Amino acid sequence: PAPALTTPAALADAVLRGDRRALARAITLIESTRRDHRAQADALLETLLPHTGNSVRVGISGVPGVGKSTFIEAFGQHVIARGHKVAVLAIDPSSQRTGGSILGDKTRMVDLSREPNAFIRPSPAGATLGGVARRTREAMLICEAAGFDVIVVETVGVGQSETAVADMVDLFMLLLLPAGGDELQGIKKGIVELADLVVVNKADGDLANTARHTVADYRHALTLLRHGDWRVPVLSCSAITRAGIDSVWDTIGEHKAITEASGVRATRRAEQARAWLWSEIRETLVDAFKAHPAVRADLSALESRVTGGAITPTAAARVLLEKFLGRAVE
Ligand code: GDP
Repeated sequence: PAPALTTPAALADAVLRGDRRALARAITLIESTRRDHRAQADALLETLLPHTGNSVRVGISGVPGVGKSTFIEAFGQHVIARGHKVAVLAIDPSSQRTGGSILGDKTRMVDLSREPNAFIRPSPAGATLGGVARRTREAMLICEAAGFDVIVVETVGVGQSETAVADMVDLFMLLLLPAGGDELQGIKKGIVELADLVVVNKADGDLANTARHTVADYRHALTLLRHGDWRVPVLSCSAITRAGIDSVWDTIGEHKAITEASGVRATRRAEQARAWLWSEIRETLVDAFKAHPAVRADLSALESRVTGGAITPTAAARVLLEKFLGRAVE
């Protein structure tokens, strides 16, 4: 390790200069769970904060096999060709449970990863989705400070993680297959409603005709889906032939222009920051609660009594909270 990057201030300077090694190291620092690293990470983020926010934050989700990595590769190269710098971050909830990864980061986006104006970071490993989401939010801020003006946050369509991604981006894009409705595509209930943009991928070759039908079906189904003054568009593209990738990027530009002019984008970011604050408070409180000696001593016994029906969850929670707070609870 070069001595020049050992303090948060030096690391921040290097990140702001766009030094890629510093960028990678800064993200490693915020991903660390060590207490002293956390203090350094907080100092780093405080220095970088005034230099953040100046990007288009795009979330991308879709079931495994829909073509996310192929799409991001094509999309990233398209956007770079227009003079932008693209950072790709991932939230992969499977890596916490199985140690394996549905997104399978290592072999993906080979061409994009060679671009000097691209930065690709796999999903951090972590105990909870909340923890992973926090680190991804912070990684996003660091990438912005390093001059990346398009941030792509990718997740796989298996449930909760889409909400986490939609809650940290300006525009949430859902990739679909040329096929029937949500259930046939394995899309969880409510996920389509999160989308600001729906894109049917693989609109090429034998699938082109089916893709046209899928677009028509979703346009019909989403006629009434609006987010503020934004009516959710349904587009198609081929990540392989790259047809339609330009329209996706243009639509993201329109969304930016409209939501900036109306103030919706600023409001959404402010709401996201507030929600992030509260999730930090919840996570930190729960961690402190679980670490409290008196709580730890009784937690598993009380849990057993609750699951065995010997005591109500409400009563057990009260007992534990009184131990934690050292006083009676209303
Ligand atoms: P992910 O699991 O969502 O990241 O999907 P991948 O990007 O790994 O793609 C899954 C498969 O679909 C691969 O075999 C890709 O080559 C293929 N694929 C991706 N995009 C397209 C496309 O636009 N058209 C066609 N025909 N195949 C595609």
